[in-house]
Amino acid sequence: MVDNNQTTKTVSLKEYGIENVKVQYQLSSQELHDKTIELGQGVEAANGAVAVNTGEFTGRSPKDRFIVRDSITEDKVWWGNINIPFSPEKFDALYDKVAKYISGKEVFVRDSYACADRTRGLNIRVVTETPWANMFAHNMFLRPTEEELKDFDPEWLILNVPSFMADPEIDGTRQHNFAILNFSRKIVLIGGTGYTGEIKKGIFSALNFIMPVDKNTLPMHCSANVGDNGETAIFFGLSGTGKTTLSADPDRKLIGDDEHGWTSENSVFNFEGGCYAKVINLSQEHEPDIYNAIKRGAILENVVLDKNGDVDFADTSITQNTRVSYPIYHINNIQEPSVGHNPKNIFFLTADAFGVLPPISKLTPGQAAYHFISGYTAKVAGTEEGVNEPTPNFSACFGAPFMPLHPTKYAEMLSKKMKDAGVNVWLVNTGWTGGPYGVGSRMKLKYTRAMIAAALEGGLKDVEFEKHPIFNLMMPKSCPNVPSEVLNPRETWADKDKYDAKAKALAKSFKENFSKYESYANDEILSGAPISE
Ligand code: ATP
Ligand code: MN
Repeated sequence: MVDNNQTTKTVSLKEYGIENVKVQYQLSSQELHDKTIELGQGVEAANGAVAVNTGEFTGRSPKDRFIVRDSITEDKVWWGNINIPFSPEKFDALYDKVAKYISGKEVFVRDSYACADRTRGLNIRVVTETPWANMFAHNMFLRPTEEELKDFDPEWLILNVPSFMADPEIDGTRQHNFAILNFSRKIVLIGGTGYTGEIKKGIFSALNFIMPVDKNTLPMHCSANVGDNGETAIFFGLSGTGKTTLSADPDRKLIGDDEHGWTSENSVFNFEGGCYAKVINLSQEHEPDIYNAIKRGAILENVVLDKNGDVDFADTSITQNTRVSYPIYHINNIQEPSVGHNPKNIFFLTADAFGVLPPISKLTPGQAAYHFISGYTAKVAGTEEGVNEPTPNFSACFGAPFMPLHPTKYAEMLSKKMKDAGVNVWLVNTGWTGGPYGVGSRMKLKYTRAMIAAALEGGLKDVEFEKHPIFNLMMPKSCPNVPSEVLNPRETWADKDKYDAKAKALAKSFKENFSKYESYANDEILSGAPISE
């Protein structure tokens, strides 16, 4: 695969207020790999990938994500504790401070773009303090050809300076770290955090505003792949529900693992050029495609290596959120370019740690809209001292932290597109079965894959369905390659009364959460709600 970075071109950063810098422009993946190691910022793992630590932050910091409130955003953004306003004056002052801070240093500059559909392409110049953040941009954004680089016109700027610490009192931030979007100046300004996910999610947030407002395109937090028959499937879901895992399917061509647009011309396209997979407990046996993608060119984050350089994927001593980024061509079976037709099947993934929701069910249009607006999954307390209780987590459109507009804007677009395209919508619980977290176990990946394959290949067309008594969801009574006992969650619980109580409690959480959207919802959407007590 070409590594479109061998170029003699260089650029000046003066127009960005960044001066006297040693510009490392468009270094190749290998050069960035080497540079990272040379600077002592990473080591080479036995599989050939470079392994780095992202520092204080090993995940995004949603409370420190701001949007500049200006004439473009003022009336359109849904302001609140997700989209936190930032003043243009404060932004300008902070930007100048960061630019001054980075001046005189060595910086890494990468020209790239987002959106595999070039008519909607967004050219991005990424300026980073570290070589590995630049390599992340190489992996995750799309890579212009040498020809395209010659007269590359950057539209957006990402300035990524992890070692710059803000002073909240002067700079108007909450604390020392920040990720700020400025739509008038077309800048994503990131400081105080080295977590690379802020880079990709910064641009995703920008696109989630630009696509519906200017490009007649629905932006989606979903993965996508396409079968031999040319049929596209998309998988919505919050973090950890299985977007990356389930879209990496050797029998289907991968379009993308996280962010897509659904256009008015009946196509779905990837915003990105790479994947960013969780690697906690990754095994070659269960997830061979992802495992084999971890090689030279990939960046491992916050993993622990043994003395031979082998990754211990079970070691969560740095974080549970261990990750790898790699360019999409590290996956064998990919769609090129990353564009597909209208989806035929849509999966809403949820990791229900209460073990209440069925492992697969088919949704009515009303239920589809209801569940999309709800965006349910569960948060598992995990290894934290003695905390064993999962908590429900609702995030509208399965991605509220990245959605600048009101959730109903996206929901209306999705509902219309789903109807026009005549898609099947499925709710898939990749979470617990046989009881809640701590009692039951996570649904076997093998079974989830079989259920999805059945939905895609017509294996659920002629089977009998039954209705869930509380959630009203239609559950298949049989499914190829899946034991029938797991299909009805109540049957997997030893104590049926406990199941009923948990199901009612979860239904109540759904209702409470949905109350803030009720006034926007029509009867069809409201008909998708679980039954109230
Ligand atoms: P993010 O938005 O943070 O990228 P994601 O939706 O892409 O999250 P994955 O990276 O696919 O989520 O994470 C799913 C995790 O759950 C993986 O570690 C996977 O191995 C594990 N897992 C266990 N059982 C299942 C299952 N039945 N289906 C899907 N994933 C499962
Ligand atoms: Mn993912």
